[in-house]
Amino acid sequence: MNQYLSMLYSELEQKYPTQPEFLQAVLEFLNSISDYINQNPNIVETDVVRRMLEPDTSASFKVVWEDDLGNLQVNRGYKVQFNQALGPYKGGLRFNPNVNESIFKFLAFEQTLKNALTGIPMGGSKGGSDFNPKGKSEREIKRFCEAFMIELMKYSGPDFDVPAADSGVGIKEIGYMFGIYKRITNRHNGVLTSKGVNYGGSYVRPEATGFGLIYMTLHLLKKFYHTDLTGKTILISGCGNVSVPAAEKATSLGAKVVGMSNIDGVIHDENGLDIELVKRIRDEKLPLSYYLEKYPDTNYFINSKDLWKLKADIALPCATQNELDLEAAKTLNKNGVLAVLEGANMPTTLDATNFFIENKVLFVPGKAANAGGVSVSGLEMTQNATHTQWPFEVVDQRLKEIMKSIFDGIYETAEAFGNPYDLVKGANIKAFEKLYLAMLEQGY
Ligand code: GLU
Repeated sequence: MNQYLSMLYSELEQKYPTQPEFLQAVLEFLNSISDYINQNPNIVETDVVRRMLEPDTSASFKVVWEDDLGNLQVNRGYKVQFNQALGPYKGGLRFNPNVNESIFKFLAFEQTLKNALTGIPMGGSKGGSDFNPKGKSEREIKRFCEAFMIELMKYSGPDFDVPAADSGVGIKEIGYMFGIYKRITNRHNGVLTSKGVNYGGSYVRPEATGFGLIYMTLHLLKKFYHTDLTGKTILISGCGNVSVPAAEKATSLGAKVVGMSNIDGVIHDENGLDIELVKRIRDEKLPLSYYLEKYPDTNYFINSKDLWKLKADIALPCATQNELDLEAAKTLNKNGVLAVLEGANMPTTLDATNFFIENKVLFVPGKAANAGGVSVSGLEMTQNATHTQWPFEVVDQRLKEIMKSIFDGIYETAEAFGNPYDLVKGANIKAFEKLYLAMLEQGY
């Protein structure tokens, strides 16, 4: 790695020794931009990379809410606003008991780069809470969302910071947050995206990350293998907001989704899974093993990681960070996988990522592959600001164009830097180029 960048990384390691996810995201980024910095040594003079690695704001706050027994409960809320150079802060909200500052910092950093790739003017941000929605009643979820939004409002605004859904937060939670925001402020505006289509949400937003992931897969297959999805077999982890629309879109384009997983385990059927049933399992919060009641011959494994031991043409990790490690990467490669595209944020460990690149397994990082969600959020902001609502087909067409332009951008950059297979480098350099110029032009 370039000397200046490796010095910055060492400083960060010393400063944040307890933030492994954040350091991992930064290390991947710095490795990727090293050649660019070598070619443009004047950037070292500006010292802009150092300023890019510090979030503008990293806040945590108390959220007090009342459970069904009338007891007051307390959770921790988080807001990391990483960078506002390109537009208002933008990024999802995550509810999960395992979150912490490191996770929100990595997510907000990745979001900044991802949003830069979309071409829509959006800065990068992320937020959420260690609240666990599992096992909570509907009324408790509503009360928590309202209490959370009352605190989050200090960091939100349509031209300031526009949160959206992420894991553990969907259209229902966003609805409760928007409802309380409006009652307090008397303003019906684009303070949140991923809203319901009846009150300002955009068509295609719930499906956008999954659909975008498949549109990107099509571009990748076309460019490198002159083929499409017909007859291709696919593995998808997670049975949630990204995975299910991705599985639906892939199936509609002629692919066979042969394996899916969630924290309960893995379902595997070489003839292709019944995605409608997986969707029902997701929506009704049923255990994954419920699938066997209708299809008793389906293979079922209780270890979610066993998904990566299955044979398929394409692997789409869509569950959570660091779910696909080096061992899994080696097994996928041995089994002849053609391409791996990240539907979640940083689901692949750094050594597994490097293994894919070194072994010429096509690999698209999440900041490009899963950018469809935030892109349609950006389109939702445009619709809100202009008091319009575009039809499904119009938004879907825009999403297709955005995914194509992201793919072309990262591919051309990777090629220009000598290795079209290194789309991680392509994505990081492409995002960096836009971001650092915007920062310097604005004098910071
Ligand atoms: N949570 C999604 C992401 O990771 C979407 C964010 C948004 O729509 O603002 O990109």
